[in-house]
Amino acid sequence: MIYLDNAATTKTCDEAIKAMTPYMNEKYGNPSSAYEFGNMGKEIMDEGRKKLSRIINCSPEEIYYTSGGTESDNFAIKQIPKTFKGRGRHIITTGIEHHAILHSCQAMEREGFRVTYLGVDRNGRIRLNELINAISNETVLISVMHANNEIGTIEPIAKIGEIARKSGVLFHTDAVQSFCHIPIDVKHMNIDILSASSHKFHGPKGVGFMYVRDGIKIHPFMDGGSQEKGLRAGTGNVPGVAGMVAAATKAHENMRRNVKYVTGLRDYFINRVMREIGGIRLNGHPVYRLPNNINISIKGVDGAVLMVMLDLKGICVSTGSACTQNNTNPSHVLLAAGLSEAEAGNSIRITLSEDNTKEEIDYTINVLKEEIKKLREKA
Ligand SMILES: *Cc1c(COP(=O)(O)O)cnc(C)c1O
Repeated sequence: MIYLDNAATTKTCDEAIKAMTPYMNEKYGNPSSAYEFGNMGKEIMDEGRKKLSRIINCSPEEIYYTSGGTESDNFAIKQIPKTFKGRGRHIITTGIEHHAILHSCQAMEREGFRVTYLGVDRNGRIRLNELINAISNETVLISVMHANNEIGTIEPIAKIGEIARKSGVLFHTDAVQSFCHIPIDVKHMNIDILSASSHKFHGPKGVGFMYVRDGIKIHPFMDGGSQEKGLRAGTGNVPGVAGMVAAATKAHENMRRNVKYVTGLRDYFINRVMREIGGIRLNGHPVYRLPNNINISIKGVDGAVLMVMLDLKGICVSTGSACTQNNTNPSHVLLAAGLSEAEAGNSIRITLSEDNTKEEIDYTINVLKEEIKKLREKA
C-alpha cells in the first residue's frame, strides 16, 4: 500500500507508541489522584505542556489538552463569543475553514450571533482589506486557519494577528495542518487561541491541545472536575498526551529536514505531472503552500472515480477533505477559490509525509498516467 493521504491522518510513529505503553500497562493511575501512583501521569502531562509550549513560544500554563482538533475548534468558536458576548455578537471567519469551524459557526448563528465568512482569491488566500472592512465594534472573534487541509494554502497569519490585536479583537487559528509541519510563534504572530491535533503529526488519534493566551478568561467547555484548570473537565488522557508529546518532539526536531525532503518530493511530483499529463491545474498557492500538499484538477476526469481506480492499485489519495467523502457535493474550499463545480469535481488531493519515498511517487505518477489516459478515452 502507498499512503498519500497524510492530511487525513498520519501513521503513529514508534516513538509515540513507545511513550504511550507505560501509561497503560504500568503507570495507569489517575493523574488527578493525590498519591504518587497518580502523580506519574500528572508529571508527564505537565512535562508535555513545557515541551509543547516551547514549540509555539508560549508558556506551559497556556496549554490545555483536548480530544483533538474538532474539540479545540468547537471550544474557540463557541466559548469565546459566549464569554465575551457583552462586547458584541459578531464573528469573522473564512469560507475555506474545516467543518469543525464552519459547523460551529452555524451553531452560533442559530444562537443569534452574526458570522462573516471572508472570501479567498484564486490561490485560496484571504484579502486583508476585506478582513479590515469586516471588523466592527461588535466583533469579538476572528478565526482564520493557518493552513488549509484541502489545498495547502498558508494564510498570512502574522498580518491577520497584527490587524486583530490593533482592533482589540481576539484571534483564533486552526493550526491542525501546520503545527509541527511549519514554524509557529504565537507571540510573533499575535495569536490568542490556537487548535492542534496529535494524529496530524504522527501522534495517536483522539488527543490534541489548545493554546489560550494568559489573561483570556473563558467559560468552561466541559463541566465536571477541575482538570485543565477547570476549563475542560475529564480525566486526563495520559497515554494520548504522552504519545502526542513524543510525536511533537520528534517532528519539531526534524522539521527543517522534513520540510526540505517533503517539499522536494512534492515539487518533483507536481513538475512531472504538469509536464507529462496534459490538462492539469494546480489548486492552491504556488508558493504559500504546505510542504506536503498537492491538489490538482484533471480535465475530463472525475476525481472520485480516479480515487477508486488508484485505490484498486493500492494507492490512498482523497478528493477534497475526508470528512466530505460520503457526500458528492463539490469541495466548498475549491468553490470558494473560484473553481467551477466541474473543475472542483475533477480534483484529487495527495498529501505526503517524510515516510514516502521517491519510488512510491514514481509508481504513483505511472499509475496516474495510465488511469487518466483510460478515463479520458472512455469519456
Ligand atoms: C483534521 C482537521 C481537524 C479536525 O481534527 P481532529 O483531531 O481529527 O478532530 C480540524 N481542522 C483541520 C484543518 C484539520 O485538518
